[in-house]
Amino acid sequence: MSAPESESDAAGLMESLFPGARLIVAANRAPYRLVSGVHGESHWERPAGGLTAALDPLMQRFGGVWVAAQSGDGQELDVPPEDPTYQVEVLGVPAETYRAYYNGYSNGGLWPLCHNLVERAHFRPSDWHSYRQVNHMFATQIARVARTEDVVFLHDYQLALVPGYLRSLGHTGPIAHFWHIPWPPTVVLRLLPERRLLLQGLLEADWLGFQTEDSVDSFASAARKELGARILRDADGVRLLYEGRLTQVAAVPISIDTERIEEIARDPLTEGRIHKLRSRLGLHDSALMLGVDRLDYTKGIPARLDGFARLLARYPSLHGRVRFVQIGVPTRTEIQDYRRLASAVRRRVAEINRRFRTPGWLPVRLVERNLRLDQLVALYRLADVAVVSSLYDGLNLVAKEYVAARVDGGGALCLSETAGAYHELRDAFPLSPLSPERIAEGLARAIFATEEERERRMERLRAAVAANTIHTWLGRVLRGLRSAAPQLSGENATPV
Ligand code: UDP
Repeated sequence: MSAPESESDAAGLMESLFPGARLIVAANRAPYRLVSGVHGESHWERPAGGLTAALDPLMQRFGGVWVAAQSGDGQELDVPPEDPTYQVEVLGVPAETYRAYYNGYSNGGLWPLCHNLVERAHFRPSDWHSYRQVNHMFATQIARVARTEDVVFLHDYQLALVPGYLRSLGHTGPIAHFWHIPWPPTVVLRLLPERRLLLQGLLEADWLGFQTEDSVDSFASAARKELGARILRDADGVRLLYEGRLTQVAAVPISIDTERIEEIARDPLTEGRIHKLRSRLGLHDSALMLGVDRLDYTKGIPARLDGFARLLARYPSLHGRVRFVQIGVPTRTEIQDYRRLASAVRRRVAEINRRFRTPGWLPVRLVERNLRLDQLVALYRLADVAVVSSLYDGLNLVAKEYVAARVDGGGALCLSETAGAYHELRDAFPLSPLSPERIAEGLARAIFATEEERERRMERLRAAVAANTIHTWLGRVLRGLRSAAPQLSGENATPV
């Protein structure tokens, strides 16, 4: 079968490669949540992310369990609510343990370290203790529900120890783990006191996925230098041999539900939304530059705004002719660094507006809200330039979503050279994210480019996004896991 392009292709692969298997997924967040309102009534929430979009249909078809965690009481849900086919088991973690595992070790330690922002990272023994505890809770729950033939698919930096714990609990079936954020260079990893334990934990998986070749190389090199693992390279890529176990390590960049985004972009409702937005934002004769991010310090928002200010300072002809809308989704607000960042961004926006505004023209607008995908797609369709200037980013889905939404072939993407997505999206206008001068230059190139150049770049970007959708990604994970898990020589399994 060629690269899966649709949900049913991915399902076909699952059926032929893992006959009789269910999917056991573990991620910090659940794909569905039952939320209680103030008056005791409850309603369902479904995160719209690409990961859920890809895994949910497969879980509905093959059955399985999605294990997640939250602070406080746990939940057991049969989903989808209208016609249940699989379970979501949300582990209830005592509030203080959850805080130390999630805000402490995961987001106060691993997150900044993996993004090479070493001065922000702190590793407290008590946070580590909770991280281990919660990882053990995940492993215990998975071991309880997973049969040997099931596919166990683990996600991200919050769950690095789960593969190791699962093996020690006697689970012998196939385990895939996808690391969504960058893996840091070894010199940076050395700042992590527990690095060997994390590496050992991960190396108990059969297949480990990363967003980029850089991350694969850094991980392999750390496994060799820190643990003495052997690196074997062959046509299938990189395999690591450690204490008798082979782990396949691969760069498989994640993607988006391209079909869904194109469908929304073509929907007449979106046209209506675009029309309203254009008049609400006063865009009749001015261009729109757009940033869409969580308010996270890895996204490079202050330097981006400084870059926009320099653009305005250098090109007075743009005054009154361009607006910058920054969507800044509040995130991890219990962590001080995040609150500081949000204040710094607000200050920058106020300064730029004070300096440049004229009657009838407000250069920058900050929207501190989480928008729905259909609202975002309308903004993407409207934005003449989308600006992604992350300092480091595992991938950056917004960049791909913007391109997918441009069914009209218009628009221009400015993309940080240090975002994982840049490897696939080389036809973007490149940005060097630390320097406001360089950002201003990149923005100027995009906004003053000829229509022909913009169209040519967008056409190639669209081809790149179409070539790797979330279903293609999932197919690559399943194929990788199948070839990496030789213990699965089931009679019915089709060779890859
Ligand atoms: N997003 C959203 N509403 C918003 C802003 C962003 O749903 O108001 C979504 C966006 O569509 C994308 C995701 O959040 O799918 C952000 O993913 P990305 O990889 O760009 O960054 P991350 O937040 O994972 O670091």
